[in-house]
Amino acid sequence: MIDTLNATEKNIALEERYGAHNYHPLPVVLAKGEGVFVWDVEGKRYFDFLSAYSAVNQGHCHPAIIKALTDQAQTLTLTSRAFHNDKLGVTEKYLCEYFGYDKVLMMNSGVEGVETAIKLARKWGYTKKGIPTDRAVIVAVERNFHGRTLGIISASTDPDSRNNFGPFMPGYHIIPYDNVQALEEALQNPNVCGLLIEPIQGEAGVYVPQEGYLKKAQELCKKHNVILMIDEIQTGIARTGKLLASDHEGVHPDLLILGKALSGGTYPVSAVLTSDEIMLTIKPGEHGSTFGGNPMACAVAVAALEVVKNEKLAENADKLGKLFRSRMQALVGKSSIVTLVRGKGLLNAIVIKPTKDGKTAWDVCVRLKENGLLAKPTHGDIIRFAPPLVITEAQINECCDIIEQTIQSFE
Ligand code: PLP
Repeated sequence: MIDTLNATEKNIALEERYGAHNYHPLPVVLAKGEGVFVWDVEGKRYFDFLSAYSAVNQGHCHPAIIKALTDQAQTLTLTSRAFHNDKLGVTEKYLCEYFGYDKVLMMNSGVEGVETAIKLARKWGYTKKGIPTDRAVIVAVERNFHGRTLGIISASTDPDSRNNFGPFMPGYHIIPYDNVQALEEALQNPNVCGLLIEPIQGEAGVYVPQEGYLKKAQELCKKHNVILMIDEIQTGIARTGKLLASDHEGVHPDLLILGKALSGGTYPVSAVLTSDEIMLTIKPGEHGSTFGGNPMACAVAVAALEVVKNEKLAENADKLGKLFRSRMQALVGKSSIVTLVRGKGLLNAIVIKPTKDGKTAWDVCVRLKENGLLAKPTHGDIIRFAPPLVITEAQINECCDIIEQTIQSFE
């Protein structure tokens, strides 16, 4: 029966039959990518407005990153951390100087970076701050998204992330996001070792806190001797129009978590950067990963960050983000289904009100796909728009035309 299907249907049927059903993708099967474009198995070209959840900031298959990856792949791929290799030290130095920290610890997926941060905060809490054994508290916020391990879904407030996965890890105090008073109250507890926060909540639907929130959070953490841990896995590496979203407020967190675009979307690389005081609380044998900081990861991370700097991607994201938001904002008055536009740089979202005949953000995304632009709804009514940062002004205008025409077709 499967032989009567076209290539798209065949691939979807295989995933449905043999894969776990832990995602709900749009019905498109991609086979190739270059820059801002991806092509499906039927040869149709699309603008990619998700960028693998902001992992492909440098554009698909960036030649400099692919060269670093393939050169390294033919030389040395993995040694384990049982031995030194000739890539790790130079990469650690590069990362520390690039982001302004004493030390870095490299892992693979974003969530491993987050787990590493939590372990560091707890270890520091016990060994430096003097928190009694097993009493350390991490303050996290409502609507957060930091990944999928049991350790971090224990801090989630999203039922889809948590339902039937308990029992959960203790030691979190969850407060509302963007609420300075709640933070001030939570930090009164002397057992708090860290505050874990996204500078913009990406997965939740691109929620941007009020100006000054991060700065205030930094002041309060300092006052109460608490580690400010900022998760820039989605917002970092030029996505919001600065190298880091925290840079918009001049905040340099005590501990920075990076992932996704740290590899330009080629290979999972994450990293935690912090001070000597915090990093050196972890001793040999206390934390690690077989693949963390391997030569391939090192090669792609340096190449990916060089591209960000050389191609001025933060500046491009800032300039084209303003253009994109102003064109989307114009839709709020004109269209009955676009109710709100928010974001920073090229991390933006629009909120869709269902039409009278029940069409939702999902239907808008399916029609955007038909019109040559890929985006994905989140939480039912929000569409996130996050193209690769190598997009040009002419291309972003063309994409705004596609979005505008698609929205109008629902009126
Ligand atoms: N933190 C943030 C802010 C994220 O957006 C994500 C992924 O979307 C993660 C952590 C988890 O990263 P990964 O899926 O690589 O584990």
